[in-house]
Amino acid sequence: MITKKIYLYFPKSETEKPIVYQLVKDYNLIVNIFRAKVTPEEEGYLSLEVTGNQEDITRAFAFLGTFDVVIHAGNKGVHWDENRCVHCGACVVHCPPGALTIVDQGTRTVTFNEDRCIECLACIAACPFGACSSAF
Ligand code: SF4
Ligand code: SF4
Repeated sequence: MITKKIYLYFPKSETEKPIVYQLVKDYNLIVNIFRAKVTPEEEGYLSLEVTGNQEDITRAFAFLGTFDVVIHAGNKGVHWDENRCVHCGACVVHCPPGALTIVDQGTRTVTFNEDRCIECLACIAACPFGACSSAF
């Protein structure tokens, strides 16, 4: 079993299609949705992880490719820009799962572990330097 992170952009034409249902039913995937934002009649975004065997995941990605959906494979919907981060540490106490942590108490260096991020978006409000951002 392997797990893949993806986030998807749905244009207006695709927002009402049961794509996640089909990932589960037809491709045997375990779907873990981190965050969804759908504006009926406009557009939608979905950030999720899918777990399954390699063959089913490959088939599922091919299935997604048959829709007018933009697929960002390998990414979550939250991004940490290392170049903007000044390691002030303000975000660390606001990050519930410890995805943003101080890894070196001497230098106070902050780092981001994307695998731990649950996309709560708290760091975006907490960061005075715009180092954390959301794809949607
Ligand atoms: S979105 Fe939430 S979980 Fe992810 S890094 Fe920011 S505060 Fe942590
Ligand atoms: S609040 Fe922003 S600048 Fe400060 S450590 Fe966190 S990501 Fe870096």
